[in-house]
Amino acid sequence: MSGRKEQKNFTRKAVSVQEAAHLVLERVRVMPTEEVPLMQSIGRTLAVDLIAPQPIPHFRRSGMDGFAVVAADTGKASVGAPVTLEIIDNVPAGKVSGKTVQPGRCIRIMTGAAVPEGADAVIKYEMTTEEEAPDGMALCTVKGAVSAGENVSAIGIEIAEKEAVLRQGVQIGAGEIALLAMFGIHKVQVYRRPKVAILATGAELLRVEEALVPGRVRNSNAYMLAAAIASFGGIPVVLDQAPDDVDVAKRMILDALREHDVMATTGGVSVGDHDILYDVTQSWDGELLFNKVMMRPGSPTTFGVWQGKPVFALSGNPAACYVGCRLFLRPALRGMLGAELSPEPRVTATLTEDYVKSDRFTRFVRGRMFEQDGKLMAAPVGYDMSSLTVSLRDANCLICLPGSPSGYRAGSLVELIPLKGFYD
Ligand code: AMP
Ligand code: MG
Repeated sequence: MSGRKEQKNFTRKAVSVQEAAHLVLERVRVMPTEEVPLMQSIGRTLAVDLIAPQPIPHFRRSGMDGFAVVAADTGKASVGAPVTLEIIDNVPAGKVSGKTVQPGRCIRIMTGAAVPEGADAVIKYEMTTEEEAPDGMALCTVKGAVSAGENVSAIGIEIAEKEAVLRQGVQIGAGEIALLAMFGIHKVQVYRRPKVAILATGAELLRVEEALVPGRVRNSNAYMLAAAIASFGGIPVVLDQAPDDVDVAKRMILDALREHDVMATTGGVSVGDHDILYDVTQSWDGELLFNKVMMRPGSPTTFGVWQGKPVFALSGNPAACYVGCRLFLRPALRGMLGAELSPEPRVTATLTEDYVKSDRFTRFVRGRMFEQDGKLMAAPVGYDMSSLTVSLRDANCLICLPGSPSGYRAGSLVELIPLKGFYD
């Protein structure tokens, strides 16, 4: 047995976190596209550019409630010397006047309505009074000047015809969907969401609905991964748990890969007697890209590709499982969803306390980020073992501490990966 353990360890070549992320991203293939109704495009990634089929606004639009006028008519108007114009029509929003404004005349107009022919400005209501002449003619008294173009949104002032409004790869949120709706795109071309099969391995695992028994734990990682994957835009599919049996696990993995786009396993990646994932990746017909990363937690995180499909074999220890998922699976899913390929974005913060553990590997310390006096601060949550799950509840960032013989002092500038939508 010990010979096999040594072999599992010695044949592993540790890669840096950056290299590992690069190896993953290199293998990412964007998903095929599908057309979905507008409402289902929320949160999805646009698969085509949106080129404005018409200008916005597509008619000269009034920016005010008031009167559409020939600006020159109002040139000398003031409170002391008002100018009187004949009101020849009334256009609410959504209507178009068939009349043309000539000098000496005006048309009553509401915000958003089409400015009639002949008018080149809108004078706002507050600068006018309305009255009726003895002969019944409707009159508007103008008590101020407007210049040509005032309160009129020109055609295409917001968006020119043929302008690229949205680029392929953008995530569809409120602003994006408003533009799609504006241009009448009620069926949207998006990337298919990758289906991610989740397989937990380990004889100690109980199903969530099972009662606790001594020595066994419930399979919480599968659900942690499912939640993470759903939030990254994938479709999580939790498979039945696998026993610590190489052949059974291999069959389950390969069967699932035929029907899913990505595989994520948890457990069985270390060097213990029952760590079967190593053996799976030695005996399958897939390609192994790495099975050791210079990071903690999660150094045995493993990544391979089977028939073009990414396979992430993550640690069983919950925090390590999460870190591996976040660092490698998320960028891969984002890339498959059509987003620009990039490792997890990081921001700079100030460490609030000493973290003096020496290490050769980069540590991803569960932390809390917060703002203080306009500065972003990062505090380790404190309980840091990779076997802990509760720290994931409390963390809103991973503090990245590259390997160092002396660790880090309070006040050091560090990078962190925000979690839980702190920034998005
Ligand atoms: P392993 O990497 O398989 O040696 O797992 C390490 C430890 O992580 C195990 O002893 C379990 O306590 C825990 N663990 C493994 N898999 C899971 C899981 N699916 N859910 C919760 N805890 C797990
Ligand atoms: Mg195990």
